[in-house]
Amino acid sequence: MIYTCYEMVRDCRADLPEGWTHFISYYVPVIRRAVVHYAPERAGDAGLLDHILVTIRKPETGIFQSSEQPEERWFVAQVRQLMVAELGAPAAEISIDLETLTAALEPLTMTERQAAWFETMGYSPAQVGPMLRVSAETVEKVRDRAAELIRGKVDSWRRTLLAENGPALGREAAAGAGPDCLPTKAFLDVVDGRTAWRDREMMDRHLRTCWHCVDHFCRMLEVVQLLRGSQPLSEAESVPFRALLGVAAPKRSGWKRFGGG
Ligand SMILES: [Zn+2]
Repeated sequence: MIYTCYEMVRDCRADLPEGWTHFISYYVPVIRRAVVHYAPERAGDAGLLDHILVTIRKPETGIFQSSEQPEERWFVAQVRQLMVAELGAPAAEISIDLETLTAALEPLTMTERQAAWFETMGYSPAQVGPMLRVSAETVEKVRDRAAELIRGKVDSWRRTLLAENGPALGREAAAGAGPDCLPTKAFLDVVDGRTAWRDREMMDRHLRTCWHCVDHFCRMLEVVQLLRGSQPLSEAESVPFRALLGVAAPKRSGWKRFGGG
């Protein structure tokens, strides 16, 4: 019997052990992978993972209050946002804002913008290539070009400017949704190959002026990558996390009896 992410979100919202048990088993490994990427120096710090999980568990975090139909990739994107916010980041020595980035990167196409934006998310060209379905060399070239374009617009510059400003730029982009911005589904449709050519054209145009959507799109591609090949925790591996979150052991036989659709 398939227990969907939609059901999990609903059950966690209602604070039912079924929901939390599923969350722990399927999403702790994904959060771990994200921690390894965003805080490699703290990847061995069990306290950090525990802190993130406890934060997610708090109702006021609102992660299970969804206005969109919660499918798995949407949900993981929410978790990722919360996790990155919890990690915090030192302020960049040289700061850059989205307005400057917009002015500098005006000549870039949608995919080129994504290649540049992934640098703010800390992904190497070798990691980004498969996500954008281009070669690592192409990503590298686009980034060099983007770096030169930015250099021409700012007073002080260094090659790591985008990466160092990543957390701040990510926050600014996430907060900057406009009336024409696209829903998560629009990006997932592209990922799933369900987008008509005309819609794709419209998306290209919109993303040329909207970092909120560039960021959103990149984060959905990231989520696909985080979920790929992720293995759920075993029963034994789940036990300490259930204890941490105060989740009762599931009564397996009764799982679906009252569930319904
Ligand atoms: Zn937008």
